Amino acid sequence: MEVELVRTSGFCFGVRRAVRMVDEALKGADGPVYTLGPLIHNPQMVTKMEEMGVRVIGPEDDLPPGVVVLRSHGVPPQIEEKVKAKGHKVLDATCPFVRNAQMYARSLREEGYEVVIVGKRGHEEVEGILGYAGGKAYVVWRPEELASLGRPDRVGVVAQTTTPFEIFSSVVSELLKRIKHVKVYNTICDSTSKRQEETAALAERADVMIIVGGRNSANTTRLAELCRGLGKPTYHIETADELRPEWVEGASLVGVSAGASTPDWLIGEVMEKLKIWNEGGK
Ligand code: SF4
Repeated sequence: MEVELVRTSGFCFGVRRAVRMVDEALKGADGPVYTLGPLIHNPQMVTKMEEMGVRVIGPEDDLPPGVVVLRSHGVPPQIEEKVKAKGHKVLDATCPFVRNAQMYARSLREEGYEVVIVGKRGHEEVEGILGYAGGKAYVVWRPEELASLGRPDRVGVVAQTTTPFEIFSSVVSELLKRIKHVKVYNTICDSTSKRQEETAALAERADVMIIVGGRNSANTTRLAELCRGLGKPTYHIETADELRPEWVEGASLVGVSAGASTPDWLIGEVMEKLKIWNEGGK
């Protein structure tokens, strides 16, 4: 049995950077270190960080002043101000790609454009971008959702960084049909699409797919759906303990992939267990 891991599995640049910033904060801090909400959508990693002394807080919590790390998804500026007003030092781990989308949304609003954000309403990243657009933007996922926009003179568009390009371009082309002056910032980060492409390519060749990552992680769940959609037996697990030998029995090639919030050590444990089984161990 051969076991192959998708090359782009695990932490993306923005998540890796945020985790490193928490590590550095822990080393340098002489007071408590907090994250505003769970740093990443991975329960095992959040637990590990709690064991290291990092506490997950909300913006309204009244706690002794410390260092508060903002997540890679970013937060609305009002929330950041609220945290500072409570006497905390803010360490901004907003991914630079998300930061670009926030800054473009703000400048479009300041220049008098109606702002359209192509993304999922309610997602933390979108809420952050919306905050930078002064709370006034149309959040859409499909061209049909532009109906309430009417026909303003000028429209500016940004994307939630994980939006598939086809969705972004379908909204932009609908806008171009209706509005004379459209300013477009393509703020999509290709880390997610690359991982999806590589996972799908491996799923085409593999007999079975193992997807590692939090069940609360949207991008990990999407990887599992993608593989199932290709008709491949697929198992979404959080830890190596969940692996079952019967899943890989008789398989020539087992494919493994993991979401952007899955730490290397969890992926490593899964690979190690499969390797031991492959060598006839228990
Ligand atoms: S997916 Fe892209 S934009 Fe989002 S945190 Fe990772 S690197 Fe940044």
